[in-house]
Order: sequence, then structure tokens, then C-alpha cells
Amino acid sequence: MACGAALEDRVVHVLHSDRPHAYCDGCLALRVHATLEEARRAAERVAAEAASFDRRLRACHGCGRTLQLTCLR
Ligand SMILES: [Zn+2]
Repeated sequence: MACGAALEDRVVHVLHSDRPHAYCDGCLALRVHATLEEARRAAERVAAEAASFDRRLRACHGCGRTLQLTCLR
């Protein structure tokens, strides 16, 4: 359905609109309507390519687990 770039755009949109909260890859997957694997890859690409994003150990606002997740710096 969606290509990779569009998925990354949706990940960026979710993280911007819900800041300062951040979501783990699983919770992002639910919010961007993608599989966990697709969301994880997109979140990792966003963190790697966008200077305003970082990937670090942090509590997820969706499920409360502390995981490596992509968030705004
Ligand atoms: Zn979560």
C-alpha cells in the first residue's frame, strides 16, 4: 500500500504531533498502520537521517515500556 518514504513521513508526523511524548516501534506501528517490522525500519531511518530525531532508551508513552525508540531531540 504505502511506500517506504510515505511511512517515514507518517512516523515523523506522529512524533511531531504528540511531542514531547515518544513511542516505541510497536506503538508507532499501530499509529501509522504498518507492521512492527515496517515501523521499526522507518523509525530507524528517521533517526539516522533526520538531525532533529534521536534513537535512545526511553519510556514509551503508549505502552510504558522503556525501550530503544525514536524521538525528537
Ligand atoms: Zn510502546
